[in-house]
Amino acid sequence: MKILSGLSLKEIEEITDALGATKFRARQIHNWIYLKSVKEIDEMTDLSIKFREELKQVATVTDIKIKVKQVSSDGTIKYLLEFPDGECVETVLMRFDNRANLTACVSSQVGCAVNCTFCATGKRGFIRNLSYREIIEQVLTIQRDTGLKVTNVVFMGQGEPLLNLDNVLKAMEIFNENFQIGARRLTLSTSGIVPQIRKLADLDMQSTLALSLHAPNSEIRRKLMPIENKYNMDELHKALKYYVEKTGRRITIEYLLIKDLNDTVESAKQLAAYLKDIKCNINMIPYNPTEKNDYQRPSNNAIMKFKYLMEHSGKKVTIRLERGADIDAACGQLRGKVEA
Ligand code: SAH
Ligand code: SF4
Repeated sequence: MKILSGLSLKEIEEITDALGATKFRARQIHNWIYLKSVKEIDEMTDLSIKFREELKQVATVTDIKIKVKQVSSDGTIKYLLEFPDGECVETVLMRFDNRANLTACVSSQVGCAVNCTFCATGKRGFIRNLSYREIIEQVLTIQRDTGLKVTNVVFMGQGEPLLNLDNVLKAMEIFNENFQIGARRLTLSTSGIVPQIRKLADLDMQSTLALSLHAPNSEIRRKLMPIENKYNMDELHKALKYYVEKTGRRITIEYLLIKDLNDTVESAKQLAAYLKDIKCNINMIPYNPTEKNDYQRPSNNAIMKFKYLMEHSGKKVTIRLERGADIDAACGQLRGKVEA
């Protein structure tokens, strides 16, 4: 049985060819899958009933299941999706009232090997990579369920996308070509896998690269992110410069703010010095509580003060709005399992 979701036009043509149908049928099926987000072959109403029956013998729309769906008071929707092998990941749909954008936050791996101390996903360890089909199925599932068209995709769910780069790049290509989502509306977020950042630079990636820096110096970063032992902030700095030079693109620096740990005036000064010669915007993420650690979210005053200091250094700074915290859908709260 073929799964239609995730197939390219050419791959769908192979199916219609085998059924003795024209290439035009393949185009119709492709539209039903990617632009109209149908759940069943029977909804493809411009195909004859006879042809739909033949198609149903060899293909189905999807093999993914929505295991749990939670809707937050702010409109954020979190899905726990199950793949045929029983593994699950979370996918989040965020709407921002003041914009027409619908942003899907997708997972790239089941679990994550990077094991940052503040992140719920890391606590599970690494289970497996997602295929490119499983990545794009997350967006299709959202579209099928809501009847809405996703306009932006961020790789900020579970997993480290740069450690599953081939599948992630292929998924981005499909978002671009089949979903007609522009490259600039796709964002990759990474914990800082240096060789892969260089690779993206060489590929001249036109999507947004977001780096989870989270610390103003190596000592603090090592406490938060064990990856600092493998690729330290010096190497990272060089790779970021290389990326900006090669692509001409501005990087987004993600900076998790944790009370008394990296939110001090001294930290702001060090961070400003580190980023001085890197073309970037800063996105500050006040820490969202997860179980089993002692970190705390800074006071609003401390957050605003840090923002002011960074702005003073000449950077554009935004504070990430917390979405869906009441359903544990905010950054770092994705676990990928049903709570017992
Ligand atoms: N693995 C990638 C992408 C997924 S995480 C990465 O780390 O960049 C998306 C963002 O959420 C990252 O910036 C991550 O550091 C942040 N995050 C993780 N745990 C968090 C928490 N408890 N509170 C706020 N942000 C968190
Ligand atoms: Fe992995 Fe990102 Fe979580 Fe770190 S923050 S453990 S890299 S998902």
